[in-house]
Amino acid sequence: MATTINLDEHLLIGGSWIDATGGARFDVTDPATGNKVGSMPNGTEADVQAAIDAAAAALPGWRATPAIQRARILRKAADLMRERADEIATAMTSEQGKALAEAKGEVEYAASFFEWFAGEAERIYGEIAPPMNTNNRVLVLRQPVGVVAAITPWNFPAAMMTRKLGPAMAAGCTSVVKPASATPLTAALVLRCIEDAGAPAGVVNLVTSRDAGMVAKTIFSDARVRKISFTGSTEIGKDLIRASADQVKRLSLELGGHAPYIIFDDADLDEAVEGLIASKYRNAGQTCVCANRAFVQRGVYDAFRDKLKAKVEVMKVGHGLAEGTVIGPLIDSRAVDKADEHVQDAIAKGATLVTGGQRLTEGEFAKGAFYAPTILDGVTREMDIFYEETFGPVAGLTVFDTEDEVIELANDSIYGLASYFHTKDYARLMRVAERLEYGIVGANAGIISAANAPFGGVKQSGYGREGGSVGIDEYLDVKYVLMGAVGTV
Ligand code: NAP
Repeated sequence: MATTINLDEHLLIGGSWIDATGGARFDVTDPATGNKVGSMPNGTEADVQAAIDAAAAALPGWRATPAIQRARILRKAADLMRERADEIATAMTSEQGKALAEAKGEVEYAASFFEWFAGEAERIYGEIAPPMNTNNRVLVLRQPVGVVAAITPWNFPAAMMTRKLGPAMAAGCTSVVKPASATPLTAALVLRCIEDAGAPAGVVNLVTSRDAGMVAKTIFSDARVRKISFTGSTEIGKDLIRASADQVKRLSLELGGHAPYIIFDDADLDEAVEGLIASKYRNAGQTCVCANRAFVQRGVYDAFRDKLKAKVEVMKVGHGLAEGTVIGPLIDSRAVDKADEHVQDAIAKGATLVTGGQRLTEGEFAKGAFYAPTILDGVTREMDIFYEETFGPVAGLTVFDTEDEVIELANDSIYGLASYFHTKDYARLMRVAERLEYGIVGANAGIISAANAPFGGVKQSGYGREGGSVGIDEYLDVKYVLMGAVGTV
């Protein structure tokens, strides 16, 4: 097995890699073993303030930098991430737990946002509206919003950050990044790529802290920060909506999800099994877009369950750096508790365990946060798993008969991020895609994330879109200039 890292990283403020004011640090640990894999400065309010100062100071120069030059830096940063993919992925697996192959995939995915938004930087077009009054002209400009704060989660420590920094940099904004305290080392390595690619001092700044509330308070009370982009739980997202009211700050919120995964009778069952596995068990079930409820039509229910069982019960669980590992540890013991609570609650209310259903605590698993890949048969609305995000490797199966019935079941959620279904019926594909109340629909596809697609949710999954051609709009203000006394042609 490759060895975990041992890395002591720093804050990045105004182009300097520095310690926190007062010098305090916190440990970063491997969720598979509990061992220390590095440390980060425990930033203070003064550090957050200094990061905002640096971003504000860098803003005039960066917004005036020609778009083509901003794009070159983004492309170079993507190249550097790819060159350093082994190092970044090893750090990610060490602190986050995911299997190394997945971590390498995430580095590539994360780099793709820099490349995509490098292209978008060069196409921030305005418009000239047709005159309503022949003496006037209306020019529409799209300008950078200013200083941005990005608050990111631990489940995709590289990609959730580049999905914000890519469009922010492309638009001409400067940023302060606050990564999850479980996974700050990956963040530091990605920011080193941006810096080494030639981003001027202060264009991106990194603050890590164990006191996320303090960081948020400092950001929200500083009038120079014009926009906050947050990816994380719906609970914290709601707090940020409240906090944004005081200064009417712009927000983008990528929050929780609870994806339905529908398999119709006419689906290609093998493809559907592969799709559900990719959606459900990637990152040990810790993705916002992962399937939390699988609805299988009655005619194929037993066959689907048996095919799924055959694949899931041979999944290799282990340290993310060990050869052949498919399912790594969960992020911490609380995550294991939550997965187990959902499983036990479902069983107590009548679900049947098909496979898994227990914590792994012996031998190599003794010190880690491991949970066996699990399938539950007979999940109903009475069970917690039907409505709550599990964030673990637990798939719950529910039988259905008709299209109308499954649409109603699938839309019965406070969340509206990702949804999936499998069918070979072309007309149904269009119909169901239109009826699902979700921001993202995977039709015959279990992996839906891509830099060129607008990612985001409806309902309590948040608002705003990241990626796609609209992703940069989140970082631009629209201004119009009315030019009077132009005269007629
Ligand atoms: P979280 O607890 O909400 O944390 C996310 C970020 O917010 C972390 O950087 C965290 O810092 C910070 N934070 C914690 N308390 C805060 C506060 N009071 N004010 C401001 N920031 C605060 O979420 P998580 O457990 O890391 O991530 C899992 C959640 O993210 C799931 O619900 C998942 O569905 C969602 N998610 C959504 C998307 C999407 O695109 N929609 C993508 C990925 C994940 P600390 O780490 O220091 O506490």
